[in-house]
Amino acid sequence: MKVYNLPVKCAAILFDIDSTLYTNPEYARSQIDLPIKRLARLRGISFDRMNDEINQYRDNWAKTHNGQAISYGNIFKAFGVSIAESVKWREELCQPEQYLSKDTRLRSALEQLNKAFVLGVVTNNPVSIAERTLCALGVEDLFHTRTLVRRTVVRIIGLDTCGVSKPHKEPFMRAAVLCGAVPEACVSVGDRYDIDIALPLELGMGGILVDGVEDVYKLPELFVKEGII
Ligand SMILES: [Mg+2]
Repeated sequence: MKVYNLPVKCAAILFDIDSTLYTNPEYARSQIDLPIKRLARLRGISFDRMNDEINQYRDNWAKTHNGQAISYGNIFKAFGVSIAESVKWREELCQPEQYLSKDTRLRSALEQLNKAFVLGVVTNNPVSIAERTLCALGVEDLFHTRTLVRRTVVRIIGLDTCGVSKPHKEPFMRAAVLCGAVPEACVSVGDRYDIDIALPLELGMGGILVDGVEDVYKLPELFVKEGII
């Protein structure tokens, strides 16, 4: 885990989901491989060739952008798959329930954080997949607020909320608003520095780079140690 600029007055924590709130390499891989398989089929080429082309595009992009990583949403866009189409593909292909189950350690950590902070999600998956993933993990209610008029507000910003993929300013700013916090009082938690952390830091947020869900279990302890809770 690597911690960047934690705000003393923290109001909200914005979580990435995939490979952050769960660690499941097989599911993470399927989310990359299945859309590549579909794109390969559409282009009439083999999976391996499509995969090579995508890897090459990603490597070239990194070379011309100071070694930074690019999101798959943006890679697919470069291959002619619009963000709207990516949303549809992901909704059809992602099956979180097949791979994930209730995580009581995660729930306990998030419950502790939820007492002190508003919890939100910023993900490059569609909102519906994010909801299903949180449900599979047994933590979805911690990202919901019931309003006085009995409406449920879901604090999830997904690929289909703004139509842009992280790292982009808009999803993070929208998430901060949804959580009722200024950017300087938010902390972004995720597993990829270039996608989840670098831009939030530019916006004045704090950042916590995790190696997986094991690090999320330790967050309440970290916030206590830092004197923030
Ligand atoms: Mg992730």
